[in-house]
Amino acid sequence: MKKTIAVVPGDGIGPEVMQEAVKVLDAVAEKFGHQFDLVYALAGGSAYEKYGSHLPEETLSICEKGDAILFGSVGGPVSEMQLPKWKDCERNSILTLRKHFSFAVNLRPSRVYPQLQSLSPLKPELVAKGIDLLIVRELVGDAYFGVHKKDVADGERYATDEAKYTESQVKVAVHAAFECARKRRGKLTSVDKANVLTTSKLWREVAEEVAAEYPDVEYENMLVDNCAMQLIRDPSQFDVIVTSNMFGDILSDAAAVLPGSLGLAASASLNKDNFGLYEPPGGSAQDIAGQGVANPIAQILSAAMLLKYSFGLEAESKAIEDAVEASLEEGYRTGEIYSGEAFEKRVNTKQMTEAILRNLEKASVSVCNEKVSVPK
Ligand code: NAD
Repeated sequence: MKKTIAVVPGDGIGPEVMQEAVKVLDAVAEKFGHQFDLVYALAGGSAYEKYGSHLPEETLSICEKGDAILFGSVGGPVSEMQLPKWKDCERNSILTLRKHFSFAVNLRPSRVYPQLQSLSPLKPELVAKGIDLLIVRELVGDAYFGVHKKDVADGERYATDEAKYTESQVKVAVHAAFECARKRRGKLTSVDKANVLTTSKLWREVAEEVAAEYPDVEYENMLVDNCAMQLIRDPSQFDVIVTSNMFGDILSDAAAVLPGSLGLAASASLNKDNFGLYEPPGGSAQDIAGQGVANPIAQILSAAMLLKYSFGLEAESKAIEDAVEASLEEGYRTGEIYSGEAFEKRVNTKQMTEAILRNLEKASVSVCNEKVSVPK
């Protein structure tokens, strides 16, 4: 397979972890006989320095020409947010990309590795039941895109945010979630607030109609307040969760803390043509940038998601995931996941990648690739 990937490392630890993910992509290409042409582009503060813009036209054009985007992270130190280089950096770059490419769903896996159970903030007996879930968040509807109004009436200030959903927006997200559930453990939980909100009533109605097309997937509805509790009380019950934009925003951040480090999480944003942007959900980690100690796993797993969801390369993606897990099993730990146990080997960014590459080299080459698609 021959594909072009737009590579946007960004700021802070972005370039450090991106060069490690690129090594893994190169190794996969070599091992499985593919050609990935990587075209680099700037975004965030690094782009501002050169172009005076957080998302220059050149970057947009490179992303448009690519078959997928591998994104690092953008943003400056929290204390320098008001400087022009950093002000609104995230909004101007990532949110503009999301809008430009009409990304309809966001996928956020949250998995507690058996080797890292002690890092999870949950009690050991809850973690031992196994936590491996995927949140599918609708991305283009809800209160984020309705009319926002702030005014004064009867002598006091008031504000409104219009929340709107169309049937087709719900269908796209729910179909995508069912497709994911089919490829995982076959269970889907649709989360809403149908006891109060009209948008949620429509969500539930449409989700149940779509469910009839997937009799092989176990389906349930859950109210968002209950889901928030269940994510902490017993997250092992979940396989795939699908929900609206705002609920997904909040629930996916709650689920992101379960594994114990932002350095372990990946994410994907997909549009109807299966074009996607893949990025670690964490930020540019300016507190550790330039030290070579950041965990590259989040960026490497984002590359694995890219192969799976945009290129349909399931076997290659699984080989990367397995190599990451094998490296953790061997005891390799970057600083933020190192707990000082005797069997652990504390390593830097490059050494963690070297362990992953060694394990990738051992993986067998199989050809059972099938595409996961977001329906049109
Ligand atoms: P952050 O996510 O960058 O860091 C939070 C904590 O997690 C830090 O202690 C950091 O060291 C740690 N961390 C994150 N990724 C890590 C990794 N791969 N390995 C080891 N440790 C890791 O959040 P922040 O410090 O609040 O934000 C820093 C900048 O990033 C800000 O400018 C913020 O606006 C921006 N940001 C960008 C994105 C994005 O690009 N999508 C997302 C969130 C924040």
